[in-house]
Parts: sequence; C-alpha cells; structure tokens
Amino acid sequence: MAKEGYNPYENMLSVLDQAAAKLGLKRSEYETLRYPERELTVSIPIKMDNGELRVFEGYRVQHNSSRGPYKGGIRYHQDSNLDEVKALSAWMSFKCAVVNIPYGGAKGGIKVDPRELSRDELIRLTRRYTTRILPIIGPDQDIPAPDVNTNGEVMGWIMDTYSMFKGHSVPGVVTGKPIELGGSIGRTEATGRGVTIITYQCLKKAGLNPDGQAYAIQGMGNVGGTAARIFYETGKKIVAVGDWSGGVYKEDGLNILEISAYLSDRSHCLKDYRAEGVSYLTNDELLTCKCDVLIPAALENQITADNAERIRAKIIIEAANGPTTVEADEILNRRGIMVVPDILANAGGVVVSYFEWVQNIQSMAWDLDEVNKRLEKIMLKGYDEVERMAEKGGSMRMGAYMVAINRIVTAGKLRGGPISMA
Ligand code: GLU
Repeated sequence: MAKEGYNPYENMLSVLDQAAAKLGLKRSEYETLRYPERELTVSIPIKMDNGELRVFEGYRVQHNSSRGPYKGGIRYHQDSNLDEVKALSAWMSFKCAVVNIPYGGAKGGIKVDPRELSRDELIRLTRRYTTRILPIIGPDQDIPAPDVNTNGEVMGWIMDTYSMFKGHSVPGVVTGKPIELGGSIGRTEATGRGVTIITYQCLKKAGLNPDGQAYAIQGMGNVGGTAARIFYETGKKIVAVGDWSGGVYKEDGLNILEISAYLSDRSHCLKDYRAEGVSYLTNDELLTCKCDVLIPAALENQITADNAERIRAKIIIEAANGPTTVEADEILNRRGIMVVPDILANAGGVVVSYFEWVQNIQSMAWDLDEVNKRLEKIMLKGYDEVERMAEKGGSMRMGAYMVAINRIVTAGKLRGGPISMA
C-alpha cells in the first residue's frame, strides 16, 4: 500500500515541528528528536525449505532513550523499509511519553511477506534476525514486542534465541510473550481494548451515546479484530470492517463473531465472505462509508488528501500507527471531524507490555481484572492530559504531541542534555 511521494518519517517530522513550535521550543531544545539515536540495518540470510538461500533485509531503530529503555514492536511486512521503521520508532517514543510509562521508543521490521514463508522458514528468519540485533536489545536496553504480522509465538522464538546466547533464560527481553513463558494476561487484547476505552471516552466527552453509533473498522488483525469483538459483544453496531482484500458492509450491523471465526482460517479473506444483506466494499469505499466512528486499524498512510474530503464519520480513532497524513489532518480539522491520534488511541498495547515487564521483574502474575483496571486508569489519564493540552494546541493530535515532547525534552534536560557532554 506504499504510495508515491509519501514518506512516514517526513510526516512525523512535520507534526513534531508544529507541536514544538506550539510549545514555544527553540529548535535546539528538541533537535535531537528529529534524529533516531541509533539505526541498524541487517541482512538475514536463511535457507528456504527447498534448499535455496534467500537474504532478507531487517531493521531495528532506536529513536530516543531519555525516559528509559527503548521499547517497541517488530513487524513483518513486504513494504517495510528504513523510513517507515524510523517513523514508527519515533511514534513509540511519543506514545510511551503520552501515557507516561518509563520507556523510550524503538521499532523493528523485516521486509518480508510472511504469508509466503512456511512456519519453519519463519522460525529461521526470526532466529537469525534476533542474532543480528542481539547486541543492541535486552531487558534494560531495548525490549521488542509484537506488531503487524508478529505475535506471541514469534516473541517466544526471539526470547529463546536471546536466552541461548546469554546462557540463561531472559524472559524480560521481549513483551507480548505467551503467558506460559511469562507473558501477561490481557496483553494480546490490550491494544484493541485500549482503543475501545478511548472511543467511549471520546464519545462521552462529545455527549454521544456509544450504543447509538455506527462503527467502521479498517483492519481485522489483532488490534482491529479485538476492538471489533469487544464492541460487538457489548451490543454496538459495526456497519463495516475491512482487511487487505477489501471490506464488507451491512447497514443494520455485521455479525462480528461469525466474521472473526471465518477469518481465523488464515487462507480466508473478507472479499470472499458471504452473508445475507452483506455487500462488498473497496478499501476506499470502506474509509468513506456512512458511519459515525471510523477506526483505521491497519497501516500508515490510509487517510490522505485523496479521501479526507469524502470521509463521513464524525470521529476517527487511530488504532493503527500513522494512518493519517499531515494534509489529510488539516482537511479533517477544517471539516470539524474529531481525530484521536495513534500515540494515544493505540497505546494500550505498550501499556500492558509495561505491566508484563514489571511483572517479570517482580516474578509476579497479576490477574486479568487488575491488568484491565490499571490499563483503563492509565488510558483515561492520558486522554485527560491530552485533552487539556489540546485547548492550547488546537487538536487532540497537537495536544498529544505537546504532552509527549514536553516530557521527553524535560527528561533530556534533567539528564544534563546532549550539549553538556561536548
Ligand atoms: N507494536 C505495538 C505498538 O505499536 C506495541 C509495542 C510494545 O508493546 O512495545 O504500540
């Protein structure tokens, strides 16, 4: 879905510059945030099942560590590239700062379409990638987690490879692990659950009843799929959902449990889903369909200058990272469409990653109720702080970036700042 002329890192820089200006920061006070602290590109040679050698390209980018160890997921995607991973790493720094958890930001990626690889090939790819980034990760250094097309199982392989090289078991090197390996209950659902918490809060503040809204969700992966299920199970009407093949629409509400069950067979996709009263939508039709709440939960660069004028939702909750371009943001703002930005709306995943890390350090396991209560408290506090700052910043996005930049810059200053090391 990469588009000509779109560069996610340039997009990030432009929002960063705007927010820093609104905070009245001089360029020298936040210049370091314009550059990742460390960028690593690796080659990953693996033997394919047919005996041939293939070399994949992978990345790990560490954006900022002023507030704590680097933190962020690893994605497997055919369009992944260094600029994307750089942008995603910066968004992690801002995300952790918005919800005030003690981490910096990082991200990793491998340019690969995992659907084309067998499970054994994926294991070999993950293990070799882990050895390549091993010198720069660790439970006090940089802690990976799942992202697009990776999951708990992949984290288990990373943890095992890291532990083999260290000579002892190091569960805290990754979060989002299977529960049997020290993962946290509630982590898999946490990003989607956080999205629903933020959606309800946003509707409440706008004086709207969540039960009376029509929801459209782009993406039925871990985040979009979980959010859809939670909405559906609490009686909300989801009129449209989409995946890479397109979407489906039903004005009086889709049966999400049936759709989730259909998609649990990984060879299935939405364009082949059939049910009474359900019609097929292209991706463009999904984003511009008649709904009240639109939730992009797929990839970056989806809401653009091409479709922003045609979007009919009143509220957009960014469950994906970077779904809206700077140009689209201006259009939505002018049209009075409320956008809750990614770095707040999808922070639930990394918040429960933090809980997992804390539980690992203490060798403790919390129960689901405790995890979900603490998650809700942190998400709502983040929402309030962003909303207050948005009064100065003019939008929730500006509010979120201003809260984040302020925290990171303050931490940097309290450590003496880069200049004092000269
Ligand atoms: N990949 C998730 C994100 O984009 C979670 C990262 C983490 O838990 O470290 O926020």
